[in-house]
Amino acid sequence: MSKIKKLQDGVYCKIIPLKGNPLKSINIYMVKSRGETLIIDTGFNTCEIRKEMMDYIDDMDIDLSKTKLFLTHLHSDHTGLATWFNEELGADIYMGEVDYKMMSEMADANSIRWKDVMSTAHMEGLDKDGLSIYDHPGFKYRPKKSFPYNPINPSDSLKIGDFNFVAQDFSGHTPGMIGLYEKDKKILFCGDHLLKKITPNITFWSFEVGDSLGTYLQNIEKVKSLDVEHLYSSHRELIDDISGRIEELKLHHKNRIAEARRTLQNNEECTVRDIAENMSWDISSKDFNKFPKSQKFFAAGEAHAHLEYLRAKGEADFRKDEDGVLKYFLK
Ligand SMILES: [Zn+2]
Repeated sequence: MSKIKKLQDGVYCKIIPLKGNPLKSINIYMVKSRGETLIIDTGFNTCEIRKEMMDYIDDMDIDLSKTKLFLTHLHSDHTGLATWFNEELGADIYMGEVDYKMMSEMADANSIRWKDVMSTAHMEGLDKDGLSIYDHPGFKYRPKKSFPYNPINPSDSLKIGDFNFVAQDFSGHTPGMIGLYEKDKKILFCGDHLLKKITPNITFWSFEVGDSLGTYLQNIEKVKSLDVEHLYSSHRELIDDISGRIEELKLHHKNRIAEARRTLQNNEECTVRDIAENMSWDISSKDFNKFPKSQKFFAAGEAHAHLEYLRAKGEADFRKDEDGVLKYFLK
């Protein structure tokens, strides 16, 4: 069982393992003030994590009738137990409207959202990889049922005892990720917006969502304008040098954009898969062709986000070939 750590007055964290996932663990925060409690995110929908959360709740001795659960974004490591929180524990759930709507549509395995995931894989040129929706990590651990919630949109406030949080637009990693900022206490819960050592995954969602990398780069810059002493991110160790980490992440993407541009320069046209194959990856099998199927979804999505960034900047464009596969080229 993992231990609970007190981070500062009223703020606690438990690091819960995510077995078999490259993220390794998730930091689940609780804010406790004047009898009220805020829990931030839930971990995957598994028996082990449910047990960890139950022990956490018992050890913290919280009043569930005065507890709010806030979900930073739709990913299943953050929302997996939401239905359980609602049905079994009766907690009020708060979440950004954009991600909530998208996630609710994903509860049903036959929904248009999952069909879109597969048609995107086809557009990206992944047919030869033989992927199925069951290979998608977000599919396996998703909440299987929708739950009632209270929408929190950017600049809305959320009060827990002495803590007055204001919601921040941290879209990019997902279409509607929300952070919580406490100005007087200089606290920022940032979800997966900024992480130490690991780069938050930026993926292509849909043409409707558009240039998620461009959005992400703008929204990490915004953190610099907040007065933050305690940045609480959802995975790994906490970041001390926030501006330094933002610059590192910007440089990381600048290099990846350059890689994608180089591949386009060397070829008349490229599928998203071609770009992914030519990008450098720091997962154990460096070669895209040898990636586990679940990672292929992620890698292609990331390559695609970098291509859409170039397209939004007017540097690249695509055509659809006779099979509906996207062929990108430099303009
Ligand atoms: Zn995430």
